[in-house]
Amino acid sequence: MTCPKCQSAMSTRSLGGVSVSRCSSCNGIFLERADLGNLVEAENDFHQHSGPMTEPLPRITEDMTAPPPSRPRTRSYIETLFD
Ligand SMILES: [Zn+2]
Repeated sequence: MTCPKCQSAMSTRSLGGVSVSRCSSCNGIFLERADLGNLVEAENDFHQHSGPMTEPLPRITEDMTAPPPSRPRTRSYIETLFD
């Protein structure tokens, strides 16, 4: 299919059993409404079984002077859409 925003070609990939089309130019994502719910469930599962590939967002505390060092880890399942 072509991107409804910029008319570029979109490539389809499967993520967690959900078919997602992504624009090669503007990175727009197209998916069906039911698939959005499936992705949300996959996201929740991802955090429920969080392991070495995920970490909670850092908690902001009063004595924090610098942002915590960032790690090259995926914070959410949805992020993998943009790999
Ligand atoms: Zn596009």
